[in-house]
Amino acid sequence: MRPLIFLFCFGFLGFLAAQATRAHAAGPRNVILFVADGLRSGIVSLETAPAMAEVRDKGVDFANPHSMVPTFTMPNAAAFATGHHIGDTGVFGNTMYLPAPLQLPSGLSTRTPFIENDTILRAIQAEPQYHGNFLNAETLLAMARRAGFATAALGKLGPVGLQDTTLLEPQAELYEESFMFDDSSGKKSGLPIPKELHEVIKTLTGQAAQVPDRGESARGGSCQQPGTLTANDVQGQWFTDVATKVLLPRFREAGKPFFMVFWSRDPDGTQHNHGDSFGAHVPGINGPTSLKAVRNADDSLRELRSALRVLGLEASTDIIVAADHGFSTISKQSRTSPSAVFRCADHDHMLPQGFLAMDLARALDLPLADPDSGYAATSSSPNGLSRQGHGVLGKDPRNPEVVVIANGGSDLIYLPTASRRALARKIVAFLLTQDYVSGLFVDDPFGPIPGTLPMSAINLKGGAQMTQPAILVNFASSSSDCGRAPILCAVTVADTAMQQGQGQHGSLSRADTANFMAAIGPSFKSGFRDLAPSSNADVGATIAQLLGLSIDKGGRLTGRVLREALVGGEAVKFASKTMVSPPAAGGLATVLNYQQVGSLRYIDAAGFPGRTVGLTPPTAAH
Ligand SMILES: [Zn+2]
Repeated sequence: MRPLIFLFCFGFLGFLAAQATRAHAAGPRNVILFVADGLRSGIVSLETAPAMAEVRDKGVDFANPHSMVPTFTMPNAAAFATGHHIGDTGVFGNTMYLPAPLQLPSGLSTRTPFIENDTILRAIQAEPQYHGNFLNAETLLAMARRAGFATAALGKLGPVGLQDTTLLEPQAELYEESFMFDDSSGKKSGLPIPKELHEVIKTLTGQAAQVPDRGESARGGSCQQPGTLTANDVQGQWFTDVATKVLLPRFREAGKPFFMVFWSRDPDGTQHNHGDSFGAHVPGINGPTSLKAVRNADDSLRELRSALRVLGLEASTDIIVAADHGFSTISKQSRTSPSAVFRCADHDHMLPQGFLAMDLARALDLPLADPDSGYAATSSSPNGLSRQGHGVLGKDPRNPEVVVIANGGSDLIYLPTASRRALARKIVAFLLTQDYVSGLFVDDPFGPIPGTLPMSAINLKGGAQMTQPAILVNFASSSSDCGRAPILCAVTVADTAMQQGQGQHGSLSRADTANFMAAIGPSFKSGFRDLAPSSNADVGATIAQLLGLSIDKGGRLTGRVLREALVGGEAVKFASKTMVSPPAAGGLATVLNYQQVGSLRYIDAAGFPGRTVGLTPPTAAH
């Protein structure tokens, strides 16, 4: 227990500060960023998600929303956290390739870390070449904490830790009124729950001072057995209870303005794992289990808003609701891939996880090894699959020529050796023959390669400290006959362990880039439909503005403050554009639909015409 007098002084100063800022309407106030992981913009209705729909309809409806591409959680978590695009933060995927082995406390090391993990985040931060901050910019939550706000981040492991990695360190308990809770909280070698909160949590929420496991909702099934029919409601309720019954009352008591990031794992986790559609494209992620997960996230938002009302905080608190990315139903089909020989979920000739690494090894005639199994040699036999779908290609697996990182709806290829340009051209030539590919982006120094566009075209070239991938491979998508709008019926090839019919994201289809976004509160207009493009980096920039902070430098790819949505804000000009690569020998060209506000680019969709949902082919004028 800390001295009460200290708490009192701190609280009193905070109270004075809050009073002072209330005098200036534009000054800092309370902000909640509510992230509904993987919530598609088009799925929200009064029936499916009434609390989300209410925020959207009574507050601001960001009707032209954009996830960062590639459309994965951690790249978008970094955008929310810093207000920067991926080219600056360097978070190119949920898994990335590191230039040297990352030493972990367990004694193990990895060069292909899955970064939705506090231990991994701490270890990367400790690498000397990143100078204590691999994102290259201080996060808003850390800045708010230093500026005297009460802060909290709670919910999904990984994106929560990224909001303020200082709070992952053992000395974190020294920060008054700054809290972090994720899947590991209260567990052995997980985030500690401050002792003073143990009894409070038990008394106020009736729950243990330990985050419950995801339980049945985490069961993804297998090729022999469908996945879960349960949403992540037990765990979701714990985070909701701690936010509404412990933290918000405490912050009000402390009299400090606060900034809270609440990250609901649903609907993402359940949409990935659901068992509604074993092996089949329909209903895919539109089945009852996925809809229960949408409602689960919606319930958390409803309870948060109700707690704000009860505590008298509604009039001083802005809420931004945003999803990190959209979602698609998985397809595992290919007529061209030599790896499409697997039987899974009652179907033959399916693509296995790791198909891209396997196909490339074969095409380039290079040995393939698994970086997640001690660099054991792998093959295209059913028993030879790599553990995570990643592959290192070359005679010396510890100094590979090609590295394939399997992330899901798009994969990353790294070329660590010197002869990169010729190799990149060879890889592109092969990928252009495959029906599962739709759009290729190559690192700018390679110069124009027919059929591809440069990474700078999609905001992937900036001030990043992390190793730049050489090629982004976007996977093909199409719309099934699911009885909803085409982007809600998107079926996308994914390099994943999950089965056909389950859910994934990561592609550059509009199904994956169209994340749900809405906002409500004293700073926002009421009943306003914002038709201008908005992005998750803009959410970061806008939160900075609401808190009276400036987003940190660390590159020039920063989001914009969504002024048109703020009280008194004027409309912004924007334009829709299309970029087309020089055609490859067979005629394939990567097409990019984007919108622009000033020099800022919003990625709508990209790929080969006819192979990406929501992609508008260039007109004759192009
Ligand atoms: Zn996901």
